Amino acid sequence: MVAVKRIGVLTSGGDAPGMNAAVRAVVRTGLRRGAEVWAITEGYKGMVEGGGAIRPLSWDAVGGILQQGGTVIGTARCPEFREREGRRRAAANLVAAGIDSLVVIGGDGSLTGASLFRQEWPELLAESVAAGTITPEQAAAHPALTIVGLVGSIDNDMVGTDMTIGADTALHRITQALDDLASTAASHQRSFVVEVMGRHCGYLALRGAIAGGADWVFIPESPPEDGWEEQMCTELKLGRQSGRRDSIVIVAEGAIDRHGQPIKSDYVRDVLEQRLGEDTRVTVLGHVQRGGSPSAFDRCMSTLLGHAAVEELLQAGAASEPVLMGFQNNRVTRVPLMPAVEQTRALAAALDTCDFDRALHLRSRSFQETRDSLATLMRPGPRVGGASPRPLRLALMHAGGTAPGMNTAARVAVRTLLDRGHQVFGVRFGMEGFLERKIVPMDWASVSGWASRGGSELGTTRRILQRKDLHAIARTIEDHRFDGLLMIGGYAGYEEVHRMFEERPNFPAFNLPLLCLPCSIDNNLPGSEISVGADSALNAIVQAVDKIKRSAADERCFVVEVMGRYCGYLALMGGLATGAEQVFLHEEGITLDKLRGVIYRMSASFATGKRLNLVLRNERANEVYTTGFITELFAEEGHGRFSVRQAILGHLQQGCDPSPFDRNLATRLVTHCVDRLIAQALAGENEAGFIGVSEGRVQFTGFEDFTRLVDAAHHRPKRQWWLGLRDIVDLLASPEGAA
Ligand code: ADP
Repeated sequence: MVAVKRIGVLTSGGDAPGMNAAVRAVVRTGLRRGAEVWAITEGYKGMVEGGGAIRPLSWDAVGGILQQGGTVIGTARCPEFREREGRRRAAANLVAAGIDSLVVIGGDGSLTGASLFRQEWPELLAESVAAGTITPEQAAAHPALTIVGLVGSIDNDMVGTDMTIGADTALHRITQALDDLASTAASHQRSFVVEVMGRHCGYLALRGAIAGGADWVFIPESPPEDGWEEQMCTELKLGRQSGRRDSIVIVAEGAIDRHGQPIKSDYVRDVLEQRLGEDTRVTVLGHVQRGGSPSAFDRCMSTLLGHAAVEELLQAGAASEPVLMGFQNNRVTRVPLMPAVEQTRALAAALDTCDFDRALHLRSRSFQETRDSLATLMRPGPRVGGASPRPLRLALMHAGGTAPGMNTAARVAVRTLLDRGHQVFGVRFGMEGFLERKIVPMDWASVSGWASRGGSELGTTRRILQRKDLHAIARTIEDHRFDGLLMIGGYAGYEEVHRMFEERPNFPAFNLPLLCLPCSIDNNLPGSEISVGADSALNAIVQAVDKIKRSAADERCFVVEVMGRYCGYLALMGGLATGAEQVFLHEEGITLDKLRGVIYRMSASFATGKRLNLVLRNERANEVYTTGFITELFAEEGHGRFSVRQAILGHLQQGCDPSPFDRNLATRLVTHCVDRLIAQALAGENEAGFIGVSEGRVQFTGFEDFTRLVDAAHHRPKRQWWLGLRDIVDLLASPEGAA
């Protein structure tokens, strides 16, 4: 008989939202692959104690935990595990439970412990045999320990992964707090000093500052120059003079000056009060950053990591080195565990010795880019003396459906262009603005408060351009002597600008640089893996579905319709983030056979004690099998054994405030676009195309390739990377797989 593989999973060190999603994915992937998964509760403490602290987890035991914060299997700090005797007991307990494969979810401390434990394993077993706590046969059956690590840390402080479990959720908490504080601060013209977590990592402070539109920030990796007190006060005073009603200063808890001395929030408050005479309050966000339901991103990423960890363990040979499953460029990655931990430690050591160049070098490129963008955005006005030798006149426009992040992007575009010494003109309501000459000059203050605001202040429309429209647009461009156009919007905007590109032979006025930036909740744009707005919509879906699920008091199926037009991104990722049993996409279609299979499985699952079945349907998945139809079909075929309700989420997906991820993505993309537009215009070039993120890099694609890249009938790219996640959604949907 072949022994069933038994995998242990533990969460250790500081808890982080998303740990539950990872545990759920570990358990369910393990079970679907024919393994057993045992929880080691309370982290290493449970491992050292053994007995009932190490126990099997069933499929249902991890049901309903995806949306919960913290970790349901518990975590603890365990001083005993730092001692060899503690690790010897832990090893004996694992062997007694038949476990020699571990998924360790924790911070660098927990992962260091795991690596050491693995190295010592043969000796620990030999000692346990000598002490009589395990038999020689037991030891021989488990000659090596295999380890896969996942980083659970809200600080996002691990080298070797772009994101750690919990960081995005923490950023949500911080951004919400900053939005809330900004409104009260503005009412009283107050200053706030906000302290955020991050001992050796300024990620939360930096990204929070971008998202919250903060006016000054202190992070460990990039300390301010000596005399910063004077400089900060001067800048904040100038901000006030230019009409800013609030001042928000963010301090990372590990912020230091150039000499390694801590910069404390109370000291910053005293400086502001004494030098500016401002009423200043300190808010220490503390543990609220750690708590609460995980964001959509943390649910999705943690699920993918948990799944990948088990696949890795099942493939790994017993002697393989421990690996860390991380996330880079939107994909799960696998890197050797200890070098990543060692580099993380090296970074902390560089900070301790004030080697800031090395610390920044160890952080990602985008970290440095963010820092540079922030320096511009925080200014009270355009750089003094920054006037360009040849000031350009650039048009800024939205088009397509409204998307959260449009205002954020517009604010960054306006401020960056002004800062570089150029002029910006807002074209109101998309192409209509060109047709009806609704074009307004934008200044620094005109975009105040836009970082956090949902909707579209400039306005946006969809329009199929007629020939006479093109004439009018060309004339407006000529009259305004525009040197370039930046369109921040969705598919309709891409089509409109593409049309201008194609009509260049007939309309010489269109021979200016034309650049599109992907901003659409649908995530259906070519040249970019992700568009600004999609993450916000996904979070809106996740929050709505959490509430919808809780409303069920009987055995119930919910059929939830989400937006996306012909693109199934929101439906599939929404399914991953909410643990939906079925997902219907236009890309795959809906057939009667498929519906029959769903009914069969659903009925069987309700008969064996399941209480909820969630179906996510893309709004255009099928013209005939509508959400209403499917709801009625399920109700009819359920024969009263369960109830069925539909929920059409509608515009709440479009109108929400932009998520921190979208605000940061908008900032990154706009900064690239602005630099590109300026370079093109100054060089007398006239490229036309769209910008996007692909494999982690910002990339440009020319409109020459537009037609080749899109499925024009369905307004989506021909290749959609996220469809590759479909199998994982199915795998985790039910013990037998999806219908
Ligand atoms: P985090 O994992 O969040 O960084 P800690 O550094 O507190 O949190 O580590 C969590 C637990 O991992 C510790 O309480 C201890 O049991 C174990 N651990 C941490 N560092 C080591 C180490 N160097 N050797 C052995 N065990 C360790």
